Amino acid sequence: MFLNDFFLRLNPVMAALLTWTVGVHLWGQAPQPVQESWTLDSMKDWSIWMSDPTDPAHAHATKEWQQFFKAATGQSLTMDQSSSLESHALWISDDPGLPPQILSNPNQNEPLGAEDYHWMAHQRGLFIQGGGPRGLIYGVYDWLEVVLGVRFLTPDHTHVPAWESHKRFYPNSRLYRPPLRFRWSYFGEISEDPLFATRMRTNTVQNEPGYGGKTSIGLINHTFGQQIPWKEYGSQHPEYYNEIEGQRPRDIWNDQYDPGVQPCATHPEVRRIITEKVMRQLEEQPLPGNISVSQNDNEQYCRCPSCQKVDHQERTPMGSLLGLVNHVAAEVETKYPDVLVGTLAYAYSRRPPQNLQPRSNVQIQLASIECCQKHAMTDTRCPLNTSFRDDIRDWGRISDHVYVWTYVTNFHDYLIPCPNLQILGENIRFLVQNGVKGLFMQGPAAGSEMGGLKNYVISRMIWDPSLDAQHLIQEFLRLHYADSAPFIQAYLALVEASALSYEGHRNCFGNAADHGLDPSVGAAGLKLFKRAMALAPNETIENRVEKASISAHALMVESVLGPAFQKVRSRKKTRDQTPFELDSTFKEAARPYLSTFLHLCRKHEIPRVGEWASLEEVVEVLKEGYGLKPTETF
Ligand SMILES: [Zn+2]
Ligand SMILES: [Zn+2]
Repeated sequence: MFLNDFFLRLNPVMAALLTWTVGVHLWGQAPQPVQESWTLDSMKDWSIWMSDPTDPAHAHATKEWQQFFKAATGQSLTMDQSSSLESHALWISDDPGLPPQILSNPNQNEPLGAEDYHWMAHQRGLFIQGGGPRGLIYGVYDWLEVVLGVRFLTPDHTHVPAWESHKRFYPNSRLYRPPLRFRWSYFGEISEDPLFATRMRTNTVQNEPGYGGKTSIGLINHTFGQQIPWKEYGSQHPEYYNEIEGQRPRDIWNDQYDPGVQPCATHPEVRRIITEKVMRQLEEQPLPGNISVSQNDNEQYCRCPSCQKVDHQERTPMGSLLGLVNHVAAEVETKYPDVLVGTLAYAYSRRPPQNLQPRSNVQIQLASIECCQKHAMTDTRCPLNTSFRDDIRDWGRISDHVYVWTYVTNFHDYLIPCPNLQILGENIRFLVQNGVKGLFMQGPAAGSEMGGLKNYVISRMIWDPSLDAQHLIQEFLRLHYADSAPFIQAYLALVEASALSYEGHRNCFGNAADHGLDPSVGAAGLKLFKRAMALAPNETIENRVEKASISAHALMVESVLGPAFQKVRSRKKTRDQTPFELDSTFKEAARPYLSTFLHLCRKHEIPRVGEWASLEEVVEVLKEGYGLKPTETF
């Protein structure tokens, strides 16, 4: 952008301020140096000025800054839009036309992107400038974190350290451009609290303009079930669906499961129907950044001669599927050139084709469902992760739009320990280094074992992958559990040691034994939690320790809870109507622990046992297994 243009677009006060600050220097040799820094004492008469006081994102950013600045320093700054060049102020602007090099850093020549920001101490105060509403809000949170030491830990716990009045605010400037365009730590802590999601710089769950809205990129998910539903076409046109061993499907009651269907990807009518449906979806949706054209959640890909021919040439069932996706993408491009057509590279379609390439407007959402939960993706000793490393590298060679869907919990049991804490940071860094543009990290949708801690590590690292995961873990434990932290840490170490001493490898499913865990770890864990509880300095910390202890309690009842969960799942996903029976040894061993376990889950509002069953659904089936009447309790 030319400077004249950008000055014309500025609010007059900001423009005047810039002219004042940079006018002499702008046309000379050097950019204006920033103010060294400020102290609290020097800010006593400051006010706050916004480039657009009518904008909800400005209002939110300002309110958050005011609130936490006051909590840290005891000092309040009030808004004053009449601030002039003679006064000092916190200047908040979301005009991306303020090139950062003018303000401080001559090496940063690109304008700010919508989520980028730049803040700096300046002779006339403190600037926080974002490239858009989210950039502005993020700039405020970043300043609060980096300079004041504020930490957003969980929805109901923000740590604000007290500020000493003589201390200088430092560092005095920072420019940041987040490397990921799409960021989603899929934990209950984020999904159920848009304010906390905004504070953690998630950009996928909040619609509120005051929180800066969300990215136009949606999650690529299973969509053929809606775009070519069996219910609509199946009985008349079974040839539109997968042929396996010469047979087309029959008696399908659910497109996704048991066994589900996939479209015959090379059939011209299938391509026409899906393309027309996608064009209609695009007409109805307000300006999406992408749209899903993606396989159902089953393995029934078409093996008809036509699909097989392509898949054989391309050495992957992604061959015929990508042909279909490219076909839709070509049509989408004629009317919506900026919209990406996204498809999952998942399970049978994970390997990229040998020759065929995705069109430039195709987005690949690569899913790591086979990867190991206890070894990092970079760990060459782990047999589960080798081929995923090849796939991400190979997709990166042929696509500029690789996003990753990764899995960070045990979907069969959210409540027993998932021994992945130590690999989260390493995996995020590996994925970003491989050029991915977005990360969906699927944890438990609702509450889970150590959900607060894991979300903290994930959310902060997908925002800034250069952070140190170990440091984040220690920071969270120290601030959230206070004096009890050493014993929580000992419990986490116990879980990790037990998982690592087990020789097997396991992905995001399985029972406790599959992950090297058993009731002996639960029993040792309960002892550690007892000691942690004894050190808790107040009721708040007691509650946090008690909530964390649910994962040890869960190991004591896993032998009955797991089968009950699987029964709920199979009754939902298949037509299973068989009665539920429990092994008598497991029944007896788990019985003394059930009452406390269920009490704690309810007290701490843990709604689900795993991906396909709520706590209360599992309790009903458990009663069946123990022969309890519906009115009886454990
Ligand atoms: Zn086919
Ligand atoms: Zn492994």
